[in-house]
Amino acid sequence: MRYRGRFAPSPTGDLHFGSLVAALAGWLRARQQGGEWLLRVEDIDPPREVPGSTRSILAALRDLGLEADAPALYQSQRGDAYASTLQQLREAGHAFPCWCSRGDLEADGATHRDGRCVSPPRDDREPAWRLRVPDRDISFDDLLQGRQTQNVREAVGDFVLRRADGLWGYQLACVVDDAYQGITEVVRGADLLDSTPRQILLQNLLGLPTPAYLHLPLAVDGERRKLSKSTDAPAIDTHHPRAALAHALRFLGQDVPEAPDVATMLQLAAQRFDIAPLRGIATRVA
Ligand code: GLU
Repeated sequence: MRYRGRFAPSPTGDLHFGSLVAALAGWLRARQQGGEWLLRVEDIDPPREVPGSTRSILAALRDLGLEADAPALYQSQRGDAYASTLQQLREAGHAFPCWCSRGDLEADGATHRDGRCVSPPRDDREPAWRLRVPDRDISFDDLLQGRQTQNVREAVGDFVLRRADGLWGYQLACVVDDAYQGITEVVRGADLLDSTPRQILLQNLLGLPTPAYLHLPLAVDGERRKLSKSTDAPAIDTHHPRAALAHALRFLGQDVPEAPDVATMLQLAAQRFDIAPLRGIATRVA
């Protein structure tokens, strides 16, 4: 099967170093294997969205020479696919409605684990929909982080597929779209390692293929805090693409190729890309 990877930013700010690392590593893997690299804008959480950030992230990727092989897929336009997937889960008995308010959940120890809601059904408002999570271990071999095993029911409980306000859960949207886009390998930061068992469980229940997973060391600051849009990590300076790419390549444990221009630099980096220096590293100071 031909390699197909993706980069799936949430439009909650400009492209920062942590996302650049994920984008670059994914692009290098795809180019090295003569495969494709796709974009997906995860704009399913309007309250958290920062206006203009989709445009700025996509422009930054272009300025850095990280070209995608197709126009971006927007999750805000995928509601019908998520709704029919939820319907499929409901019909198979894998999803249940939940009327708990935040207050109910706090009183109840904050999670559901028995495949049912503890609050009485109401007809004056929409419920959230949760997955009835089976009591079993989910295991996978991450290409960098090694064997991972999680009992999703113990670790997370019956997680939300669709919120009461109608917003779709990240896990459901991600699984539906990874399958829709035909993704064969997911490259992303190790902060999402613990979402992967939930995603594999959903793939299993839906009869979808499971891609390979490669969770990169998470970029942290000197105090070991995740470098993210929420901690005000600075935006990548796309006026100096070479410097930005060189920093990300060094973070990924790669030599920075001597090259006359950015395109050649990226091409050489793809030819030589080696994930060995990243094995088993969950965080790295940027
Ligand atoms: N949208 C997520 C983020 O920006 C990434 C999701 C993924 O790669 O699965 O952190």
